[in-house]
Amino acid sequence: MRVVFLGAPGVGKGTQADRIAAQYRLAKISTGDLLREAVRARTLLGLEAKSYMDQGKLVPDAVVIGLVREKLADPSCAAGFVLDGFPRTAPQAEDLGTVLMSKAMALDRVVNFQVPREDVVRRLSGRRSCLKCQATFHVGFAKPKADGICDRCGELLVQRSDDQREAIETRLKVYDEQTASLVRYYDERQLLSSLDASGSVDEVFQHLSRVLTPYQMR
Ligand code: AMP
Repeated sequence: MRVVFLGAPGVGKGTQADRIAAQYRLAKISTGDLLREAVRARTLLGLEAKSYMDQGKLVPDAVVIGLVREKLADPSCAAGFVLDGFPRTAPQAEDLGTVLMSKAMALDRVVNFQVPREDVVRRLSGRRSCLKCQATFHVGFAKPKADGICDRCGELLVQRSDDQREAIETRLKVYDEQTASLVRYYDERQLLSSLDASGSVDEVFQHLSRVLTPYQMR
């Protein structure tokens, strides 16, 4: 199964991508996670990406496309993948189509996660993240067991610089201007399923599993 998770920042794509990848034994390709890893490791790519990410802007297409091409060439993706946070622009979507076609592959489904804008702002501004294992929590409705400490790996939790108010506004604006049109792009290609992602993590996962069930045996 090859799927793309589309939607504004903060709609829960990453959390659901982890669960779907485990459930269907898919590779998870999250460009946000890959870029944050590069920033942490202080690679050249990470240094280039950091200033864009801190401001909530998109990292240039060429950089992100290169990362995804490299990942898709990995044998771990042969049995299927879930793409989280990619594509985010029309050129990225076009490039993904080209790469898959060159491998005689195609996408099975693109899921559009929908959450009211005010909920998205609440989710992002209260989010606390582990920079080591990328687990996320929320100060209000998904608290870690010990205050400020990651349940999964014991590292300190932080508020990502792009989860601060000004960057959130930029990210949502960037989504509206550069990413939202991909909903229509994939709808026109008969690949789109819309998902009400405003419920609990378990509710959304059940709903999502139902949407993806027809595609798992293909
Ligand atoms: P995310 O964790 O998916 O919200 O991504 C965090 C940040 O990484 C974004 O705000 C962008 O700066 C950058 N980023 C992630 N994916 C992409 C992408 N497909 N294209 C450009 N920039 C991206």
